[in-house]
Amino acid sequence: MTLPREDGHRPRVGVMGGTFDPVHHGHLVAASEVQAWFGLDEVVFVPTGRPWQKADREVSAAEHRYLMTVIATASNPRFTVSRVDIDRSGPTYTIDTLRDLREAYGGDVDLFFITGADALEQILTWRDHSELFELAEFVGCTRPGHDIDTRTLTELPQDRVTIVEIPALAISSTDCRTRVARGEPVWYLVPDGVVQYIAKHRLYAADRAATIHDG
Ligand code: ATP
Ligand code: MG
Repeated sequence: MTLPREDGHRPRVGVMGGTFDPVHHGHLVAASEVQAWFGLDEVVFVPTGRPWQKADREVSAAEHRYLMTVIATASNPRFTVSRVDIDRSGPTYTIDTLRDLREAYGGDVDLFFITGADALEQILTWRDHSELFELAEFVGCTRPGHDIDTRTLTELPQDRVTIVEIPALAISSTDCRTRVARGEPVWYLVPDGVVQYIAKHRLYAADRAATIHDG
């Protein structure tokens, strides 16, 4: 994790939470844009353990999702990956992610939680949502196919939420999984190393359960 800044400022750390099943260029562009716009020292990608919103579908083993995220972010010196969520047992709640990360930085950090428009709209349904905004600023990224509902926005604390327009990438992990299952390419939708990782471990293939159970 980042060292204190040489200029003595508190580190500014972006938090990109996600299932990353698999991680794709939509995630990476969002993280990169927010890093630049907000002058972040680091963006930490946090693969979820068991995402509580996705309890109804099988999710690839946490270790696969973690490793794909490491591969995808390895070349960017400002990107890191954290295991806080996958090493915590039980379903993943963002409030725990933010508490654990804050503690990992000794409390002395400004956190920016990066989320796509679709996830931003759900925040008011998340556990302890009022405390979420005390622990982090929220940065909502535009995402093709998900218009941000202005009514939702007015219900969020205005001083703790910023919407940023990022170059539109209509990529989703769901679409990547479907493509692999159909034998269609995911080249250029996900980083090359992730294409190779998916093939090597035969993730998302139609002829087997596309997932390996967690734990
Ligand atoms: P799935 O289809 O399995 O839900 P996903 O593509 O939505 O996968 P997630 O891991 O659910 O990926 O997303 C993690 C975070 O990244 C969420 O906040 C989501 O809104 C955001 N995100 C995902 N894809 C994009 C994209 N193309 N542009 C902007 N934000 C995105
Ligand atoms: Mg999603």
